[in-house]
Amino acid sequence: MNDNERENILSNYRRTFPLLASDIAYLDNAATTQKPLAVLEAERRYYEEDNANPFRGVYDLSERATERYENARAKVAEFINAESPEEIVFVRNATEALNLLASSWCEDNITEGDEIVVSVMEHHSDFLPWKIMAEKKGAVLVRLEPDETGAVTDEILDKVLSQKTKIVALTQVSNVLGRVNDIKHIATKVHAAGAVFSVDGAQSVPHMKVDVRDLDCDFLSFSGHKMFGPMGIGVLYGKKELLDNMRPYMYGGEMIQTVHWDKVVYAETPHKFEAGTVNVGGAVGLDAAIDYINSIGWDIMEEQEAALTKRAMAGMLDIPGIRIIGSQAAEDHKGIVTFCVEDVHPHDVADIMGKAGVCIRAGHHCAQPLMDFLGVKSTCRASFAFYNTLSEVDRFVEELSKVRGLMGYGK
Ligand code: PMP
Repeated sequence: MNDNERENILSNYRRTFPLLASDIAYLDNAATTQKPLAVLEAERRYYEEDNANPFRGVYDLSERATERYENARAKVAEFINAESPEEIVFVRNATEALNLLASSWCEDNITEGDEIVVSVMEHHSDFLPWKIMAEKKGAVLVRLEPDETGAVTDEILDKVLSQKTKIVALTQVSNVLGRVNDIKHIATKVHAAGAVFSVDGAQSVPHMKVDVRDLDCDFLSFSGHKMFGPMGIGVLYGKKELLDNMRPYMYGGEMIQTVHWDKVVYAETPHKFEAGTVNVGGAVGLDAAIDYINSIGWDIMEEQEAALTKRAMAGMLDIPGIRIIGSQAAEDHKGIVTFCVEDVHPHDVADIMGKAGVCIRAGHHCAQPLMDFLGVKSTCRASFAFYNTLSEVDRFVEELSKVRGLMGYGK
């Protein structure tokens, strides 16, 4: 399929995103994606037709709400090929998934002197929970440094894995470098070392087929809002046996079987991790987002994102003073291109671009250890979704080419 044919097909989907009808080029999809009508309407219909507090009522409406919620769980399980819906814990976002995991798993599985391996390219959400738990338990936080392009080689892994390694936390796709880590291969190395493997899927699940059984990761965390779903719903996947052996993270209603003054019995997995009234509307929206992704298909989405990335990087190469961070090969960037403009602060770049209607990100991208590792304070980032077009990328390149001139640095 050529570019035109592909964009023609995808334009039918793009049209269903109300916000994209405006005149902006939205290139901040790694931060959050826009929402199609299918998701907006599913959530609205849920509140109009089926809303009640689930699990608590025996009346029909409450049972319908429960069913909608559990159907969404089954949909997520199928989407990532989990063995059963019980392996899917609904949370607010990837951040909550990782906090739940680190806090609960480390409490009973980490003791003094144990090692927790975390890469320097992790988002703060996959760094701080492990760091805090390592400090609490007297464990050692072992630093995994990828090469400059974000690749994690066997040599690097062999350096950090030891008999003391209890868990490894690694992102599948860095939100700065955009490189896809070979999770399936890394899982074999982590497991051979006798450790558990937690994967941050916040930037991978929205952009590629992620099959947890094929990858054989033990945990996977991601957010609904980065995959065309609503904010406020996210997922912690965990192998059932591991989840069964973890203590609850929050305590209160819905996560118990019986509560007496002297004796409490918690609910089974996954409900023991879902204290309080759950986000049924969000789960229903995520369910619709998954249907939406499935209706388009990964092949065409990934092809479009690869074409956008390639066009952007080629265009940027022609602009003097632009430095792309990480690999210089477009195929190493999963829809994410992070860069610096010589002499110009990233916030000024994003501000100038924003005034021209091109939305990009500037800052440390919640990955300050990675910024330190790369020797930069902050950077700019353009990140694509399937609905972006090559002409939006051309507009991005055109506006970027003006930035140094506008700041008085010549062309
Ligand atoms: N991990 C990665 C790799 C991310 O890019 C993000 C979001 N930028 C997160 C975790 C946290 O996601 P959320 O803010 O939705 O919890």
